[in-house]
Amino acid sequence: MSDRDISGKTKICALIGDPVEHTMSPVMHNAAYKKLGLDYIYIPFRVSPEQLESAVNGLRALNVCGFNVTIPHKVTVIPMLDGLDPMAEKIGAVNTVVNTDGELRGYNTDADGFLKALLGWGIEPGGKNVVVLGAGGAARAVTYILADKVLSLTILNRQEELDWAENIAELIREDFGRVVRVLELLDEYLAGALRKADILINATSVGMSPAGDKSPVPAGLLRKDMVVFDAVYNPINTRLLNEAKAAGARTISGIDMLAWQGALAFEMWTGQAAPIDLMKKEAEKMLESHED
Ligand code: NAP
Repeated sequence: MSDRDISGKTKICALIGDPVEHTMSPVMHNAAYKKLGLDYIYIPFRVSPEQLESAVNGLRALNVCGFNVTIPHKVTVIPMLDGLDPMAEKIGAVNTVVNTDGELRGYNTDADGFLKALLGWGIEPGGKNVVVLGAGGAARAVTYILADKVLSLTILNRQEELDWAENIAELIREDFGRVVRVLELLDEYLAGALRKADILINATSVGMSPAGDKSPVPAGLLRKDMVVFDAVYNPINTRLLNEAKAAGARTISGIDMLAWQGALAFEMWTGQAAPIDLMKKEAEKMLESHED
C-alpha cells in the first residue's frame, strides 16, 4: 500500500479520536509529506474515552512529533497536556498538540483555519454583519476569531436556554468589549437576523452526512448579496450551499476550513509551508469517493 520507506529517523504524527475510520487527515498529511519529501508519517488511532489518558502518555513516551485530536476528545484532553495556547484556552478545545522534548502543548487551529479559508476567497470580515448558527466548538472558534474584526455578530442556537451561546457572547464581551446578539434558532428570528447579514456561517452539524438533505436556513431567506460559509465538509456541497448558490450568493465549503486547520498543524510539526491546494484536493478526492 505504501511506496515509502520507514526508518528509525521517520517522524511520527498521529490522530486520536473515536471513531477515526472516515478521517481525511491521514490522506491530507501523508500526501503533503510526500510532496515536500519529508520523512514523516501520519497515523490515526481509535482511542476510547477510557483509554485517552494512557494514549496521550503513550504518545509522549513514543516521542511522536505531535497529534491531532478529534471527537470526542477535544475538551477532555486538555488536563492531560502540559500547556495550552491562549486561543485553545479561549475556545476551550484542542485539535492539535505539539510535542517539544516531551512537553505537550495544545492548540486550536479551527479558528485560524476558518479565517484563512474566508480570506482565501477574498472575503474580508472587516465592517461586515455576521450571523453564526450554532454554539458548539466550531461556532466558538469562528465567533472568537471574528469578534474584533466584524461590524456586528449575531449567534443563533437551538437550545432553549441558550446557555452555550450566552457563554460565547460573555467571553467576547469580556475580551473585546463587543456586544454579541444571541437569539434562539427559530425561522422568525433568523429572518430578522439575516435581513442585514453580509456573511452567514453555519457552525451547526445540520446538513452533515448521512442527514445531508437538511439545511438550517429556509431557502427563501438566502440572498445574492450574502456570503454563505458552511463549516460542514461532508458532503462538500451541502443543501445550504446548494440553495445559497441557487439564490446567487457566494459560497464557501467547510472543506476549505478543514484543509487549512490541517495545514496549520502541518506547519507547526514540520516548520515548512503546507501545500494547501494539495491537502484540499486529497480531502476532496476522499470525500468524493465516499459519495460514489
Ligand atoms: P458540536 O460542538 O457538537 O456543536 C454542534 C452544534 O450544532 C451545536 O450548537 C448544536 O446545538 C447544533 N446542532 C446540532 N443539531 C442541530 C439541529 N438539528 N438543529 C440546530 N442545531 C443543531 O460540534 P462542532 O465541533 O461545533 O461541529 C459542528 C459542525 O462543524 C460539524 O458538522 C463539524 O463537522 C463541523 N466542523 C468543521 C470543521 C472544519 O474544519 N470544516 C471544524 C470543526 C467542525 P445544541 O447546542 O442545541 O446542541
